[in-house]
Amino acid sequence: MEQNEQIERFCKAVRIKTDWPVGALKGDTEAEASLKHFQDFLAEAYPLFHRTAERFVLSPYSVVYRWPGSNSSHGSSGEKPALILAHYDVVPVEKEKWTADPFGAEIKDGFVYGRGTLDMKNILVGIMEGAEALCGQGFRPQRDIWFAFGGDEERAGVFGAMETAKWFAGKNISFSWILDEGSPLAVDFFKGVTRPLALFGIEEKGFLSLDLTVTQKPGHASNPPQVQAAAVLARALLRISRTSFPYRLIPTVEGFFSQLAKLTGGVQSFALAHARLLGPLFFKLTAGNPMTSSMLHTTIAMTQLAGSSADNVMPSEVRAVLNLRLLQPWTVEKAIGFIKKAVKDERVDVKVHGHSSGPVPANPDHAKLRGPGWQEMEAAVHSVFPDAAILPFIMTATTDSRHYQHLAKGIFRFNPLKLNPVELSLIHGHDERISLENFAGGIKFYTALFGSL
Ligand SMILES: [Zn+2]
Repeated sequence: MEQNEQIERFCKAVRIKTDWPVGALKGDTEAEASLKHFQDFLAEAYPLFHRTAERFVLSPYSVVYRWPGSNSSHGSSGEKPALILAHYDVVPVEKEKWTADPFGAEIKDGFVYGRGTLDMKNILVGIMEGAEALCGQGFRPQRDIWFAFGGDEERAGVFGAMETAKWFAGKNISFSWILDEGSPLAVDFFKGVTRPLALFGIEEKGFLSLDLTVTQKPGHASNPPQVQAAAVLARALLRISRTSFPYRLIPTVEGFFSQLAKLTGGVQSFALAHARLLGPLFFKLTAGNPMTSSMLHTTIAMTQLAGSSADNVMPSEVRAVLNLRLLQPWTVEKAIGFIKKAVKDERVDVKVHGHSSGPVPANPDHAKLRGPGWQEMEAAVHSVFPDAAILPFIMTATTDSRHYQHLAKGIFRFNPLKLNPVELSLIHGHDERISLENFAGGIKFYTALFGSL
């Protein structure tokens, strides 16, 4: 009965269309209204929590809660609060490619279908369900627990998370640790590993998109110049494709491999356990696997190409976009320098495209399976997923938590749900769906976690 109500509330959350229409800007009243609608939904659906917690609506893009602890952190005696992050916006859909209504929250064969069922209304609702249940039991955390939910994570969190982080800083509130969305409990990702792997994303790669532009005199395609902009750009891209950022084993990734080694056998286990010793040989062995190689170096993805709008018109400008994911120690500036050096051509203009951010390093203790929040996170995982192995991990995608990095001693990026490679690929994909079992597991995890704080 209780579970049915939880599923019902989750379906309501999925039905609120919080995708951001392509081309809409801040101030778009319709899009912002649905973000506000989602904030109102939370207040209605979780009355006990809303009676207990303080609520701060900063904008359609941000709602913050303080769940007051009995041993509040505002004095010097108490422990610093924990901060739980989530976002309620979702990415747009290509409706015709779905077999279910993307905003219908239809339940079929034990799965709830809909945009945001994995990323990440499941998590946000799981957080609220956990808090509501504990409030219903009269539970009060020892320390303050803060929740900060953003409405534009999928568009870099500029109005949500960024502003919210400033708000906290302005109030002089900082945290012991932060939990945000992240890697799941990975199932069937590694040959020979039977246990689900709880991947704690303790570190995050940076994000940088670059515009590579070459200009030329526009004109009729019947009189093309001898050296064409497209050829100059193509040569630059070819040069980039022939180079690679150097491979490097950072402590987080070394920790991941050495834990993984304990779960595998034979040569594989030996190689993983001795990654540092094997050095270049290890890098060679892993280079063919995109998942592991992205943990070992800064990647370059060629994502967009543009020329003229007609087949018989010379373009005045040709453009390519590169998307880089930065591994320490590569900063935005250093990575731009690397690309310019690889291109080695003054005719190619290299400029930052959109919002960029550098890598977010880990708390060094987290790579050693300890440090702020580790114990509580570990206990919560084991209480719900007793067979799981916990591994430190590097997030290769970005999260809202990067905007809060200066406010805490450590960040966890973790989704308490079991996903195999097929299910993982549904995130941002067609027919995104979550199993009812996974949905229930998330609620149990947050209930256990908050209950220990
Ligand atoms: Zn997300």
